[in-house]
Amino acid sequence: MQRKIKEIIVHCSATFPEQVVTVNDIDQWHKQRGFDCIGYHYVVYLDGTIHVGRPIEKEGAHCKGHNANSIGVCYVGGLNKVGKPCDTRTDKQKKVLRCLIATLKAEYPGAVVYGHSDFASKACPCFNAKSEYQDL
Ligand SMILES: [Zn+2]
Repeated sequence: MQRKIKEIIVHCSATFPEQVVTVNDIDQWHKQRGFDCIGYHYVVYLDGTIHVGRPIEKEGAHCKGHNANSIGVCYVGGLNKVGKPCDTRTDKQKKVLRCLIATLKAEYPGAVVYGHSDFASKACPCFNAKSEYQDL
């Protein structure tokens, strides 16, 4: 059965600038945390390429209390050199995230964009996703 998508929730991987992170890496981290597999549906790499994590049909594991009706999108980065939360998105990531979110909004009309920090006391995704994408 198709899930009803009401929210698109943006995350960061909480990794260092220029640290290369793959879907496989996140898959390993999330399995270590007891999830079946990577908790996000999409991951945007440093080079701006989009990679599929968990299939959309499957409920995510990325935002407590909001997984059933959301899609989790994660960009690689989110920490500065000393490990503090920071918007480290590359120009390519910014461009692609915007495009991906616009596409998802077209596919799931009525879905509202949030950042993880709108629902949890976390810095993730280290920028205001709600206001940045409100025009989409
Ligand atoms: Zn998050």
